[in-house]
Amino acid sequence: MIKSIRPETVNIEAIKYAAIQTVDISLLRLDKIHPVISGNKWFKLKEYLKLAIEGNKKGIITFGGTWSNHIVATACATRSAGLSSIGIIRGEEPATFSQTLQDAQAFGMDLRFLNRAAFREASKAPDTFLPETNDWMVVPEGGKGESGVAGASSILDLVPDLDMYTHICCAVGTGTMLAGLTNAARPWQKLIGISSLKGEDGLTAAVSAMLKPGAARFSIFFDYHFGGYAKHPPALVDYMNQFFRQTRIPTDIVYTSKLLFGIEQLLHSGYFPENSKVLVIHSGGLQGNRSLKAGELIF
Ligand SMILES: *Cc1c(COP(=O)(O)O)cnc(C)c1O
Repeated sequence: MIKSIRPETVNIEAIKYAAIQTVDISLLRLDKIHPVISGNKWFKLKEYLKLAIEGNKKGIITFGGTWSNHIVATACATRSAGLSSIGIIRGEEPATFSQTLQDAQAFGMDLRFLNRAAFREASKAPDTFLPETNDWMVVPEGGKGESGVAGASSILDLVPDLDMYTHICCAVGTGTMLAGLTNAARPWQKLIGISSLKGEDGLTAAVSAMLKPGAARFSIFFDYHFGGYAKHPPALVDYMNQFFRQTRIPTDIVYTSKLLFGIEQLLHSGYFPENSKVLVIHSGGLQGNRSLKAGELIF
């Protein structure tokens, strides 16, 4: 569908956290699949894109914030597939656009800004806001929804020795990726989600509602958000730099840094039984690091 998507670049790398010898941690580098249509966002989008093409839609309308990985991924993916895109952005139109929005606009996305209340209304009932929605594929914020879950399930198709893993771990925003992975995992595997959001707020129930009968078991941990969604205190930035020094692997400030920090904490607390084989999903999102000041990150 999009030639520049390159699943063959995705690999699995062993991670050595200091002093833990009895548990194997491997990282699935989805961040490598495409420079813009990053990580899990490609998987959550691809079924929607297929539906838009099959339904002869003009393109995709979707929703997101100023630094949204999903917005820029949608802008790039629709352009590559020969479709148009409209991005409904949360908040008043800023005087200067974030790099994410500049990129989305450069990919031809028509950006429309709505204040928070109007944004909430529009994402609940897009057709009242945009009368022309029949000609368009409406994709919920972050690529969630049934097609997003189905697309996320196919992430595990990239894992050659899937059966050998005891645990599969990923970051959680909407929980769409976690639900897709839980549906696709083997029944004996345990899924672990590390939430980037502060507070439980119905996430566990939301993920359960997206599962098929016979799905594996999952747990979400809520202790590693570093103050809340998109919050990135110096301790988190220090962790990202330290992780990069140890592994040469870059992480993002919203999701994957908190994921890897959380997994390391669980490892030290003895959560994983001896001889566990843990597959951690690097879901990409590195473009969002551009919201940091130059020089804060060493990569
Ligand atoms: C969007 C995103 C997530 C969260 O995915 P959900 O399916 O919304 O839980 C995780 N990691 C990265 C890098 C993302 O961009």
